[in-house]
Order: sequence, then C-alpha cells, then structure tokens
Amino acid sequence: MFYGFYWDPTYYLVIIGSVICLLASLKVRSTYAKYSHVRSMSGMTGRAAAEALLRSQGIYDVTVERVAGNLTDHYDPRSKVLRLSESVYGSDSVAAIGVAAHECGHAIQHAQNYMPLTIRGALVPVANLGSTLCWPLILIGLLFFNSQSSNLFIQLGIILFSAVVLFQLITLPVELNASGRAMKLLGSEGILYEDELKHTRKVLTAAALTYVASAAASILQLLRLFLLFGGRGRDD
Ligand SMILES: [Zn+2]
Repeated sequence: MFYGFYWDPTYYLVIIGSVICLLASLKVRSTYAKYSHVRSMSGMTGRAAAEALLRSQGIYDVTVERVAGNLTDHYDPRSKVLRLSESVYGSDSVAAIGVAAHECGHAIQHAQNYMPLTIRGALVPVANLGSTLCWPLILIGLLFFNSQSSNLFIQLGIILFSAVVLFQLITLPVELNASGRAMKLLGSEGILYEDELKHTRKVLTAAALTYVASAAASILQLLRLFLLFGGRGRDD
C-alpha cells in the first residue's frame, strides 16, 4: 500500500503543481531582477516610499525596519512593523518601491480591519497545525490494517489539509487587494509616474502569481487525496 501511495498515476498532479510553483517563482525572480535596475525618477527608496504611503493614510504607529534575506518583505500585524528586505529597503528602483508599497497595502488593510485579512489571521494557527499534522496522520492511517482506524486517520489528515487549502485561498484576495491599494496610492501620491507604474505593476503581478500557483498546487494535491482515498469509506 505504501508503494502504491507514492507511485500511483495521481502523483502526476503533484508534479504538475510543483512545476507551476517553480515557473511562478522563476518568473517573479526574473521580473524583480529586471526592474530592480530601473531607478525611479523620484529617487525615493523603498523605505522612504513606505513611510510616505503610511503617513498619507494617517498611519503613524507602524515602523519600517530592515530585514535580512531576499524577498523576505512582510508586514507583521502583531508588532505593527513593516519589514523590508535589504534589496528593497535602501533601493530606489521601481521594483523596490512596488514591493514596499505592497507591504504598506497590508498595513492599511490591517488599520482598516479589511475582512479577508482578519479571517486569514484567524486561520493562521489552524493552517499551521494542518500543515504540520496532515501528512503524518495520513501516513499513520496507511499503517493500519484495520480499515476503520485507517480511514479515521486518513480522513482527519485530509480535513487538516483542506484547512491549509482554505488558508491559501483566503490569502489570494488579501494579496491582490494589497497590490491594488499599492498601485493606486503610488499613482495618487505621485511617488511613481505613469511609465514607472507599468513596470511596478509587472513586478506585483508576478508576485501575485506565486500565491495563485501555490494555491493551485495545493488544490491539485487535495484532488489527489480525494482520488486516492475518496472511495475508501464505502467498502467497510
Ligand atoms: Zn503580500
């Protein structure tokens, strides 16, 4: 049974999912690299742009910090800190300003209690539990010869995996909305000019695609679990 679990034809769904994620990740890296060489006319750095955008929305209690790593930029709602990676914080490229503005989009969502962000925040512990326990539970389920115990563990594993998928789906409107806010504000606050906005949009669209790709990969994985185990409840 173990053997079958790993090498059945539904494994192609997992491979397709991995390829989609890989392509999306390559796309965002190449797009970011390209536009990180295009300097903004305003000369603002990621940090300066972030601070200007936050202030423009009346947000004064969010601090902007530098964080190590590449593409590690994020907004932390618990400590109200907007962390920008090395290549965004001090860079005046249209790519860096776009990423900084996107993170500001999350801070603004938080300040305005944007509903999908609240739901997403509530789902974080469930999704963490799900991603830690789903595969161990399914594997334990496969070890049982007694089909009732086996099905119980497998079904529990699938339910937890579904929670992970749900989390990834609710992440999509949160990410798209943050980029939408970023693009609008970069224009209205005069931080980027029209041609620059087109470049920034490409960067943010490529970044959004990585979230779409990982959600798609998880849906394929869930589909696989249903194909493998969906019919098992019936034969006992
Ligand atoms: Zn984001």
